[in-house]
Amino acid sequence: MSLLSESFEKRENCGLFAVFGDPEAAQKTLFGLHSLQHRGQESAGIASSNGDSISCYKGMGVVRRVFRAGSGLLEQLRNPIAIGHVRYSTTGSTKAANCQPLLAEYSRGQVAVAHNGNLINAALLRDEYEAYGSIFNSTCDTEVIIHLMAKPTHVCRPDPLAHVLNHLQGSYSLLFLFPDRIEAARDPYGIRPLCLGRTREGAYLIASETCAIDAVGAEFLREVEPGEIVTLDKRGLSSRFFVPRGSVTPAHCLFEHVYFAKQNSTIFGENVHGFRKKVGRRLAMEHPVEADVVVPVPDSGTSAAIGYAEQSGIVFDMGLVRSHYAGRTFISPDPALRELEVTLKLAVVAEVVRGKRVVVVDDSIVRGNTTRGKIRAIRQAGAKEIHLRVSCPPIRFPCYYGIDFPTKEELLANNRTLDQIRQFLEVESIGYLSLEGMLACASLPADHYCTACWGGKYRIPVQIALNKFTMERYQMYMFEEMDV
Ligand code: SF4
Repeated sequence: MSLLSESFEKRENCGLFAVFGDPEAAQKTLFGLHSLQHRGQESAGIASSNGDSISCYKGMGVVRRVFRAGSGLLEQLRNPIAIGHVRYSTTGSTKAANCQPLLAEYSRGQVAVAHNGNLINAALLRDEYEAYGSIFNSTCDTEVIIHLMAKPTHVCRPDPLAHVLNHLQGSYSLLFLFPDRIEAARDPYGIRPLCLGRTREGAYLIASETCAIDAVGAEFLREVEPGEIVTLDKRGLSSRFFVPRGSVTPAHCLFEHVYFAKQNSTIFGENVHGFRKKVGRRLAMEHPVEADVVVPVPDSGTSAAIGYAEQSGIVFDMGLVRSHYAGRTFISPDPALRELEVTLKLAVVAEVVRGKRVVVVDDSIVRGNTTRGKIRAIRQAGAKEIHLRVSCPPIRFPCYYGIDFPTKEELLANNRTLDQIRQFLEVESIGYLSLEGMLACASLPADHYCTACWGGKYRIPVQIALNKFTMERYQMYMFEEMDV
């Protein structure tokens, strides 16, 4: 278990943004990435093209750190075509070699690739290529896509990209920047979101979430469909499908709605804030309680808490305040310091909770340590009773499709009864929303969502147990030898 995973319960995955046909494409991409920063804070990068060749800059850290004001970087990237990426690693460790977009040159010229998702067959594909002498520069799953693209028997296909995509298994929303065009693709299950937009001036945009399209003052057109490839080039927008359209029942990640996506985004055909309010109301119906105040765990628990308060008639108040500046500054091996980190990020407004029966509404519980830290802080501030309400079911299974959860054994709800969970979290009562209740709040049919982390039913079978460091095997061997 890494210190990082000990310290943080669940992590975002990645964010994508692209602009075609705007002289300020790189600047707009920067704005888009800013608004997608919640999807990944480990690294950021932009690749742009002048129509003939691609330039790329990327680095470790949040967008504003990588592209510092006054650095001149955007000026160097000032081209009419750009793609960008913010990363939180779900495969491959946190290091510069794994920053995206990945830029490569192969027999067909340059290409830059940005990926949101997780390829569950990446390790197998990489083994295959390495057996024939291929050399990889990174340890992220995305690089196998470039090797697939470069393979001579793939290059000569009538539609090489469609052919390559048919070799991938798992979740992928992808951006490909070629010198003269952008191609965007979404896996046949549509696990991660991907949206299309257009500026008033007619430039096309692609973004992980609609909040990024709004951020640059553009109009949301539609989502990229599962199994679709969208091409943006000088002729405009065109579309084709690499699997027969509608042939696969979607498996949209419902955790995007519960936690990852921003409240002002519309993904999978539904506004995130609206969905969260609905689950909050449903939670109040399933788990009512006598209390004085409803307190959200901000930010992702806020919408559900509003719904809970509306349905229950209990007063809503901001008993917890999130610091948006704490970031990932303190990753300490000392458990006491890690608990302090929780209070640094989330401060209690004692006046709201003192002497009260408090309903705390959180979006989800993964390992439980962070939640317990928040509960303790509210108790110390003088709450009389604390009733925890969680706006999704107990998480009992890991995610192999692009969200960095701990192992099954580390999940709080794994092999624990509800009362054991309640005792661990030190609350008077606990209530999780049922899976049926959560699905009833969603706008699409229940079988159009992935719910594997709650129910254990993986729509895309996972043959080998993957983790974030699956591709780091050689480094691990090196350390083992050094230990000897
Ligand atoms: S397992 Fe959970 S987090 Fe992963 S894709 Fe499915 S719903 Fe989303």
